[in-house]
Amino acid sequence: MKSLKELLRPNILKLQPYSSARDEYTGDEGVFLDANENPFNAPYNRYPDPYQRKLKQLVAEIKGVPSDHIFLGNGSDEAIDLIYRAFCEPGRDNVVSIDPTYGMYQVAAEVNNVAVKKVLLTTDFQLDTAALLQAVDDNTKLMWICSPNNPTGNCFQTDEIVKLITSFEGVVVLDEAYIDFAPGKSLLSQLSRYPNLIILQTFSKAWGMAGIRLGMAFAQPEIIQVLSRIKYPYNLNILSQQKALELLSKNGPRFNEWVKLLVDERALLVKQLNQLPFVLKVYPSDANFVLIQTTDATKIYQFLIAQKIIVRNRSSVSLCAGCLRITVGTPGENVGLIKALKKYQ
Ligand SMILES: *Cc1c(COP(=O)(O)O)cnc(C)c1O
Repeated sequence: MKSLKELLRPNILKLQPYSSARDEYTGDEGVFLDANENPFNAPYNRYPDPYQRKLKQLVAEIKGVPSDHIFLGNGSDEAIDLIYRAFCEPGRDNVVSIDPTYGMYQVAAEVNNVAVKKVLLTTDFQLDTAALLQAVDDNTKLMWICSPNNPTGNCFQTDEIVKLITSFEGVVVLDEAYIDFAPGKSLLSQLSRYPNLIILQTFSKAWGMAGIRLGMAFAQPEIIQVLSRIKYPYNLNILSQQKALELLSKNGPRFNEWVKLLVDERALLVKQLNQLPFVLKVYPSDANFVLIQTTDATKIYQFLIAQKIIVRNRSSVSLCAGCLRITVGTPGENVGLIKALKKYQ
């Protein structure tokens, strides 16, 4: 791995972060006359903890990772943008990404004026490790890997991912948004072995909390400190922090039930989708959605909308001609989907 000094943008290395009132005095008690808050309308009158200490402590326990290895953001999307801003000099640096994959890597790159070198997966949606490494040049700072991948649904082999991490001299960002639905293990337990690895996870999928916007990035403290320095000081508002504390404490057992139920429903859905004449292929999924190749994705998509069932038309995405992406719903919703599809001719 290149040193962080070589990888980070020079302006980010030099940056003096904004020092908020809550930075300079961190105690809980006292009369707070330091942040120009309104003394009325408690508790909403107070700025949130910029370090999210309580929430990070709980996330650290749940994930088995020390607090100083954790960044919490307004969704993983915040982390994605911050990673570009930390490492990629606009107009000069570039990143390598698998293709097809999650659209935000590209959008955040465009916002930051960073070129994305896309490397196609193989036709069975596996990593082309050699091509990914070949795409790297002197200005390549990041490599984006998503496993289980969106929209293909599959996990990549751990040894292939590790090969990329150990061969690439920049930072590998491994997005594990769907890891809770996968049979394989997260690389999180190996984080300390790879100084150039950032793992993204989210509370938006398996934990059912997309509405409160809470994503995680895990990495060595040196990288986490950089992300924390460049974020907005109060990126997580008090409502999200409090709700997350409450739901994470309360929903641990339900979380396991949800995941199990959704994985069982996924298997049922795969079986039933396979029996439909216009479904050419149901791709194996390690996530909470299934990608299917159909005879006419756009027509089926429109047909389902007319039945008030909304799926995602992915037919214009690389390697996904004719494909629809279907999220696994409740048992009732899945029955409704199959019932509607059986009416399609
Ligand atoms: C849904 C999803 C996310 C989650 O993003 P949040 O901003 O945390 O809601 C991240 N990565 C991938 C690949 C996703 O599909």
